[in-house]
Amino acid sequence: MSDTAPAVPPGTVKCLVWDLDNTLWHGTLLEDENVVLSEANREVIVGLDARGVLQSVCSRNDHDIAWARLEALGIADYFVVPEIGWGPKSDAVRRIADRLDFAPGTLAFIDDQPAERAEVAFHLPEVRCYAAQDATTLLSLPEFSPRSVTVDSRQRRTMYQAGFRRTDERERFAGSSEDFLRSLDMVMRIGRATDEELSRVEELTLRTSQMNATGVHYPDEVLRALLTLPSHEVLVTTLTDRFGPHGAVGVVLLEKHGRAWHLKLLATSCRVVAFGAGTIILNWLVDQAALAGVHLLADFRATDRNRVMEIAYRFAGFDEQSCDCRDEIPESSGEDVLLLHLTAERREPPTTVRLIAPDMTDLAPTRAGLPD
Ligand SMILES: [Zn+2]
Repeated sequence: MSDTAPAVPPGTVKCLVWDLDNTLWHGTLLEDENVVLSEANREVIVGLDARGVLQSVCSRNDHDIAWARLEALGIADYFVVPEIGWGPKSDAVRRIADRLDFAPGTLAFIDDQPAERAEVAFHLPEVRCYAAQDATTLLSLPEFSPRSVTVDSRQRRTMYQAGFRRTDERERFAGSSEDFLRSLDMVMRIGRATDEELSRVEELTLRTSQMNATGVHYPDEVLRALLTLPSHEVLVTTLTDRFGPHGAVGVVLLEKHGRAWHLKLLATSCRVVAFGAGTIILNWLVDQAALAGVHLLADFRATDRNRVMEIAYRFAGFDEQSCDCRDEIPESSGEDVLLLHLTAERREPPTTVRLIAPDMTDLAPTRAGLPD
């Protein structure tokens, strides 16, 4: 966690934590089990969910009774890692942040009791606190309005819920980690990016500094411009398994030349490092390059956070070897950027993942750009 972050960071709220009695619903559950959820609050819950803002619960109540009431109201599924019990609310909010791996500054808390808000604000000054009567205004506030709502933000809650079930199962799984990966029935799809997918890609490259091979961020508009160039390919990787979607987990930016493909960007989500996503994508690219009869060249700039990606490149066989194909690539893509080389040969498909990917050998006709 950054120690230079401002106390109240700008940016959007990633999770809203709801008090229940007289905040989420009207009434006090322990006094009257027929508490009422207003249509207005239901719209806020559904609306925030559609924008990819996660929601949780922090309430002084009996857990089973309160959860049963949320289920009866048909909204229990909207809440992740609920904290329903009797301890201090600041502790509960902190546990929610920890379980989601979110900085406290990305959480918000809504409660009708000024004393509860003050207690949370005292211990967690970064958490944004709102009074119960503010609930119906939340959808109009900038901090609850993400700049872009992508396919992945719309399914963010489902992805987190799947993630918790996956983690629980892995902790109980007795076999090897390889056996566990096989038991997940993972399907990886690599596809040419569409316009809509590009916003997911930008979000991904911003979040993936550890696994970004060049340590360079390609903004949305740059990638969008590259999409229109026939010499470039922008590929998006998504992953699903029997627990649910992981969403977009990788992005590849490739420039085609006659004798070599230039891999300018490979970034994968930190969430899927354990699944070897970077290595699977690299091996597939190597195999496709072999089929197309071209070499691979890859930009690599060591940063203090992307050592794992360097290992993936070296393990795949990239090195500093000299080769004529290097002449096709214009001088260095930037400061400290190594141009790694690989003479492609066929590779076996992955054993832990079912891979669905396009035939890239039609990339070879970059020769179209060369004189006949
Ligand atoms: Zn070469």
